[in-house]
Amino acid sequence: MTETGTTFEIEDRHGSGAYGKRPTALVRGEGVYVWDEAGRRYLDATSGQGVAALGHCHPAVARAISEQARTLVALHESFYNDRRAELLPLLDSVMPADLSRFFLCNSGAEAIEGALKVAKLLTGRAGIVAAKRAFHGRTTGALAMTWTPKYRKPFHEWLPLVTHVAYNDTHAARAAISQETAAVVVESVQGEGGVHPGDTEYLQALRERCDETGAMLVIDEIQTGFGRTGKWFGFEHSGVVPDIVALAKAIGGGLPMGAVCWRRAHGPIGRATHGSTFGGNPLACAAAVAAITAIRDEGLVARAAANGGWLMDELSALDLKGIRVIRGRGLMVGLELRGRVTPVLKDLQACGVLALPAGLNTLRLLPPLIINRDELAQVIGAIDEVLG
Ligand SMILES: *Cc1c(COP(=O)(O)O)cnc(C)c1O
Repeated sequence: MTETGTTFEIEDRHGSGAYGKRPTALVRGEGVYVWDEAGRRYLDATSGQGVAALGHCHPAVARAISEQARTLVALHESFYNDRRAELLPLLDSVMPADLSRFFLCNSGAEAIEGALKVAKLLTGRAGIVAAKRAFHGRTTGALAMTWTPKYRKPFHEWLPLVTHVAYNDTHAARAAISQETAAVVVESVQGEGGVHPGDTEYLQALRERCDETGAMLVIDEIQTGFGRTGKWFGFEHSGVVPDIVALAKAIGGGLPMGAVCWRRAHGPIGRATHGSTFGGNPLACAAAVAAITAIRDEGLVARAAANGGWLMDELSALDLKGIRVIRGRGLMVGLELRGRVTPVLKDLQACGVLALPAGLNTLRLLPPLIINRDELAQVIGAIDEVLG
């Protein structure tokens, strides 16, 4: 039996209610574009929340998924697998220094939970230091480190104690990190919190203080990873090497995937200290191999740096009255508005451009890394029309 009603009505009847939804049903994607049920085309400057770094339905990723779907999909990591053995060295090859141990999982929040467990196992300590304005996900450990009180407050009795200090405040961070700290967790560029790049001196000071105290420096690269900021990983702009890195979003070419990565020098974690039924499944591994290979072979990291710089210059040259400041790194750009972002997002969508909020007042652009200048000019034109 088919239930009656529009896509909106059926989803609203059965959905969780957890999402504030836009009144648009998107049904198809190709490259930087997505289409709604009526056949209207939008330029997707959200990349599906930062996931579709290669745009939608990249042919190499689509091919890898369909081939693997006919070969082997379900396999627990208690067995070895050829696709996984292909992915791990590829990940190692794009990670700097000796960041070469990986725990594969299925989402960003899981990568953060895994990073916390690894830090606890490696240090034997319990303390966690995170940043104000941080976003690390919605499961309890990740939620405890997420700053936004609206997300955190309803669950506060369940959340482990986390010391939150101001982002980019070196003094506050030095004071908060001690011999009891297991993990210092920060994004290399705060995404949800308003697109705030981490200062080089700040990240270097965190590294130094972690070395002094034996705490693990955990960098959340879930949104910034795989070329988004114009380097493979956002922390590379600072020259700092973290102990542990959380990865997700773009890693799987659109499939749900995450990973915890840590330095070889720290060794493996103990048997049965962590696990995941779906983690490292051959389908996700095949998609990730295709996606990371395409990012590398199409030179998308350098392209994000060049086009991101160009985008920032073009936006800065516009006479935008509603804008307080423009921040960003590579193809991760935030325009802090004088007013609320929601009406601006609606107006941009009416002009055929989908963008994201970052907090209440910041417009966030996360276009696919494959975007070209003509397509970026469409985004710039729509912003000029709406905010000029
Ligand atoms: C999206 C995001 C997360 C959470 O990822 P999920 O896959 O939604 O659990 C964590 N940290 C950062 C920086 C993110 O952008």
